Amino acid sequence: PAQDLPYDPETLRRINEHPCYSPEARHSFGRCHVAVAPKCNIQCNYCVRDFDCVNESRPGVTSMVLQPGEALERIDEVVDKMKHIKVVGIAGPGDPLANPETFETLRLVHEKYPDTILCISTNGLLLPDKIDELEKYGVRNITVTLNAIDPAVGEKIYTFVEYGGKKYHGREAAELLLSHQLAGIEEAVKKKMLVKINTVYIPGVNDAHIPEIAKKVGAMGVFNFNIIPLIPQYKFKDVTPPTPAEKAHMHELCAPYVRQMRHCQRCRADAVGMLGKDVQNEFGCCGKGDGS
Ligand code: SF4
Ligand code: SF4
Repeated sequence: PAQDLPYDPETLRRINEHPCYSPEARHSFGRCHVAVAPKCNIQCNYCVRDFDCVNESRPGVTSMVLQPGEALERIDEVVDKMKHIKVVGIAGPGDPLANPETFETLRLVHEKYPDTILCISTNGLLLPDKIDELEKYGVRNITVTLNAIDPAVGEKIYTFVEYGGKKYHGREAAELLLSHQLAGIEEAVKKKMLVKINTVYIPGVNDAHIPEIAKKVGAMGVFNFNIIPLIPQYKFKDVTPPTPAEKAHMHELCAPYVRQMRHCQRCRADAVGMLGKDVQNEFGCCGKGDGS
C-alpha cells in the first residue's frame, strides 16, 4: 500500500517527531494545540461545543478561544519553556477550516517558526477548497474525521451541513460531506501530505461499517487510522460507548487495511505537552471525541 512506500527525510521527520503519527514519538515529543477556531460548519450528533466549561477534559471543550496574535504569544511561551514541543496543531474547538483565524495563525507561526510541524484536524467539508492555502503555510499533517463512507450511515451521524451559504439535511448533507471529505483526502495524499483519519466508534450506528472505512482510506494512501470511542452526548447521549476490549477488537479488524493509531488520548483543543501529560487541564481534536 502507498502508506508503506519509503518517505523522504522531511516527511520522515513529520512522522518521527509527531506524537500522533509515531507511537515512539509520544515519549519524546509534545504538541501545542491552539484553540483559535470556534465556529463549525456541520453538526455532528455527538457534539456539544461549550467554550466556558473549564472542568471537562474532552476534545473540543476549551475554556478560552484565542485570537491569532494571542496564539502566537502562547506558542512563544511554550517553545521557550518546553524544547520537546515540535508540533503546533489547530483542532478546534470548532472546525479549523471554517475559521479565518486558523489561516492567520498558521501564517504567523509558519513565518516565525518555519521548522515547526504544523497540523490541523478537520471534518473535511472545506478541505478541497482550503488545501492550497494549507500547503502555502507548510501544513503537511492533516487529520480528517471520517465517520462513514456510506451516506446511509452518515445521515444518522450528522444533523446538518452548511456549505456555500446553504444548509443541507439528511441524506443530501451526508452525501455532500462525504464527497468533499474523499476529494480532500485524495488531494492531500496527492500532495504527499500525511493524512490521519479519525473515526468515532458509535455502537449501533457505524460500528459494523468501520472496517470498510479503514479499507477505503488505506487504499487511498492515508498514513494512519485512529478509532475514537464515542463520548455519549447530545443526540447520542443514550448510546453506550464501546469498551476498551471492543475498541481493541475493532483495531484488529481494521489493521489489515491501514496502520492503526492506538494511543490517542482524546486531547482538548488547547492541549499542551506530551500526550497524556498535559501541563494544564485546559489545554482537541475535532470529534469532541475526535483527536488531531
Ligand atoms: Fe463540528 Fe467537530 Fe463538533 Fe462535529 S465534532 S460538530 S465537526 S466541532
Ligand atoms: Fe493526537 Fe489523539 Fe490528542 Fe489528537 S486527540 S492530539 S490524535 S492524541
